[in-house]
Amino acid sequence: MDLRPFVRDIQDFPEPGVVFKDITPMFNNPKALNAAFEGLFNLVNGKAVDKVVGMESRGFFFAPMLANKLGAGFVPVRKKGKLPFATIGETYNLEYGTDILEIHTDAIQKGEKVLIHDDVLATGGTASAACRLIEKLGGEVVQCNFLIQLTFLKGADKLNGHQIRSLLTY
Ligand code: IMP
Repeated sequence: MDLRPFVRDIQDFPEPGVVFKDITPMFNNPKALNAAFEGLFNLVNGKAVDKVVGMESRGFFFAPMLANKLGAGFVPVRKKGKLPFATIGETYNLEYGTDILEIHTDAIQKGEKVLIHDDVLATGGTASAACRLIEKLGGEVVQCNFLIQLTFLKGADKLNGHQIRSLLTY
């Protein structure tokens, strides 16, 4: 199923000059929702996965579903100050300034195989910070998996050789 008709461009969101890929039409349509989920699952291609890490907030849509189908646990990575238990953090670059992503210190055990999932890979700052958090806890990132990769922003360059798979590329 062609999922492109279910991704719409929003001009000047969240700020002037940005063209935002809005995936809510994909979630709104039952057939597209199912095709997107099955497509993401197939990207994993039978790899063994212990934990699926989803990034706040649109990574939370599919990451727990993927974890469930893979027989893995789900781990949230969130913006600073949102997680209630002990955390470690990583700073990453935004277009203007920096932000911090956090993970619970007990979320991943040494040697666990981890799949990262987010909706969009843009500049790669978010996903590379998530990789560093996982590796600080001793986990092994086996794949970074996205609905959409904006290849012109060269996010892959920031992911230091980690395997990247995405359903749609622009
Ligand atoms: P990056 O850190 O520049 O790779 O940006 C990726 C993060 O920003 C992800 O968590 C995305 O959810 C979000 N993001 C960036 N661009 C878009 C977009 O066009 N649509 C939806 N989310 C986006």
